[in-house]
Formats: sequence, structure tokens, C-alpha cells
Amino acid sequence: MNRYLTFTSLFLLLFFVACQQPKTSSVTAIVGARLIDGNGGVPIENSVVLIEKGYVVAAGSVDEIDLPYNVILIDASGKTMIPGLVNAHAHVGYRDEVNAAHYSAVQIQNQLELYARFGVTTVVSLGEDLDQARAFQAINDTTEAIGRARLYIAGEIIVGNTIEGVQAMVDKNAKHKTDFIKIRVDNNRRRSEAMPPEIYKAIIAQSHAHNLMLTAHIYDLQIAKDLLESDVDFIAHSIRDQEVDAELIELLETKNVCYCPTLTRDLSTYAYGETPEFFADPFFIKNANINEVGMLKDSVRQAGVRGGRDYEANQAALRMALVNLKKLSDAGVTIAMGTDSGIPTRFQGYFEHLELELMAEAGMSPMKIIVAATRDAANCLKLKNVGTLEKGKLADFVLLDANPLDDIQNTKKIASVWIGGERITQ
Ligand SMILES: [Zn+2]
Repeated sequence: MNRYLTFTSLFLLLFFVACQQPKTSSVTAIVGARLIDGNGGVPIENSVVLIEKGYVVAAGSVDEIDLPYNVILIDASGKTMIPGLVNAHAHVGYRDEVNAAHYSAVQIQNQLELYARFGVTTVVSLGEDLDQARAFQAINDTTEAIGRARLYIAGEIIVGNTIEGVQAMVDKNAKHKTDFIKIRVDNNRRRSEAMPPEIYKAIIAQSHAHNLMLTAHIYDLQIAKDLLESDVDFIAHSIRDQEVDAELIELLETKNVCYCPTLTRDLSTYAYGETPEFFADPFFIKNANINEVGMLKDSVRQAGVRGGRDYEANQAALRMALVNLKKLSDAGVTIAMGTDSGIPTRFQGYFEHLELELMAEAGMSPMKIIVAATRDAANCLKLKNVGTLEKGKLADFVLLDANPLDDIQNTKKIASVWIGGERITQ
């Protein structure tokens, strides 16, 4: 009996001691990478980033940061660490065509996973978003291991002819807790009437009454100026009808409004007149939708694109967009990377890297491009927890096998992608 008691006591003691041992550490340290934190400063060549509960708790040089006891070490020497890319203008949920019948939670999930595999860890869907998006949006700022890109939405794009009608639409979006409001003000190369000022002014006022930013699709310089005078909050495409001027630059700066070029959107309007070069890029092929690629390689379809009435005009539009991006970036206007991907033929994930390439073609430096695709894309849309790798931000990042400051195309050399401090499966 005694012996039995002693044995039981010893067992309980051992059990108690075992319970007192430190558990597996909750802190992960990414050690040794070149850190480009998204703020545009000089990279830290030998860095430590400490992550706890999905957030960055410290980031800096190995000389400055002490590793806590029992930390989980991830050796990232030889890699470059950048914040996860933030796409300030995309769309999700559709396949084949933008039609409510094709919109589903399964599509959204698959597409957000696709973005994530390409290192795009935050996606702002600027319109055509239906109810199924809300469950995804609801956990944006949590540290759940979501394994996909975070999703912000603009809900239904506001259209209408009466002030009461458009106000009711804004109210409905606000009730559904959309993150932004989106409008289109475009006369389609003077072939139709653009949304009249009294209507968009009412939409802007109603959005602001709900404390929502108003994002606008535009094409023309004059319309962009009129919208800026009316307190628009975000220019969601390039100005493509003519060169931007000092007046526009001043308006963007004094109103503190960002400019989102979506160059790949314009590329997609004519690129499929032939088989584009990027169809041979292994980084593209890896995740491409074979059916969509096959359809775009079809010679009859390609001839149709070449014979389209705007085939040349679309190429000129991209050339103008490149000129304007360089001019605005040089003038100090804040640029937010966006692609308008997710509309069929605009390949989610790949187009973001193609966008970075086009931004380089416009003449932006790799560092400026990275800042536009991380910190500024987030700040422009007031996304508080993403965009940089510093204390207090969500641990969304990409480890690259090569330095994107040497060549922006090195953003394609992805070693791993992490969202909320968790490595996603490639
Ligand atoms: Zn769009």
C-alpha cells in the first residue's frame, strides 16, 4: 500500500514537473535575411524579425535584437524578405465572365489562395463584390492562420440616375460593411455620357457620411481633376487620354489622394491579339488556368482582338499610362500598386508581378515600386495592419531567393510566403 502511494506520488510529481516545463515557444524568429521593410529605407542586410501570435513584435539588425529563450528559429540567410504584396485594385469571385451566376465563396477562396501563392497577401476588390465575400473580409485583422490573401471589398459599384437612388445604394453597401465605395466616371472615349457631377458628388458625400473612402474608375484627365475637386479619395486607374499636367499633380498632392495605375489592365486590352510572351514564363505556367490560356491562344480569337476598333488606341493608352506614371511618381505623388486582375483574362497573382515589371518599364526604381506595392498600397486605402514589416504589423511577408533591388523581376523568385506568421503551402 505504502509502496503504491509512493509510486503514485512520484508519478504525480513527475507529471507536475512536466507541466511546468516551458511549452514550445510562441515566438518565431526569421534570421539572416536581407530585410526590405516596405518603408523605402536602406535594407538591413542581416536581419531578425520576431513574430508572435501572427504579428511582428520586433524587426531590425541581428546586432540590435536579442532572441528570446526557446524561440523557433527560421534560417533565412541568403534570402531577401519583403512585405507581402498589397494589390489596391483587384476583383475576386468570378470565373469565365463577370456575372453573378459565376460568383461563389469557392471561387473567392481559390482565388485568394492563388494570390497568396504568388506573394500577394492582401487584395482589395474594388467592386462587383456580393454577399459571399463578407465571411472572408470579416477576419482580415485576426491572426487566424487563414492560408490565403486577406480580402477587402467595395461591394456593389454605385450606378444610377437619381440622387436618392445612388444614396440608397451607398447606404446598402455601408449596411453590409463594405470597406470602400466604388464608382466609374468614364465617357468611353466620348462614345457615351459619363456619370454627371451632381450624381457623383452625391455619392461622394454619402460615402463620406458613412466614413467610407470613395474610389473612382477614370480614364480622362479632366474627369480626374473634376473628381479631385469634388473630394474623391482614390484614383483607381491611369489617366490615359493625355499627359498629366501640373494642375493634376497639385490636386493629387493637396488633396492627399493616391494614384493606382493598373497598367496590366491596359496591357490585357490588346496583348491577346497575339500569344503574349509571358505565356512561356514558367512562373506563369505553374499556376495558370489551362482553359483560359488555351482560349487566348486561339488564332481566330486573336485575329478578332487585332481587328477590334480600339486595338491601336488601347496600345496608345498603355504608352500614355507609362508616361504619366513616371511623371507623377517623379513629382512625388503616392502610387499604389493595382492591377484590376480577377476580371477574366487578367491573371490573378501573375499580373501583380507583371505590373511591377511595367512600373519599372515606366521608369520607377525597384525600391519605389516595392514601396508602392506594399506600404503605400496599404496606406492609400487606410489598411492599418499590413504593408510593412515593423512592430505591430501582421506578419505577412515573402522570402525571395534573389534581391528585387537588383532587378524587380526577382519578386518572382519566391522561396516562401507567410501570412499571419504562418508559412502557406506552395
Ligand atoms: Zn476594377
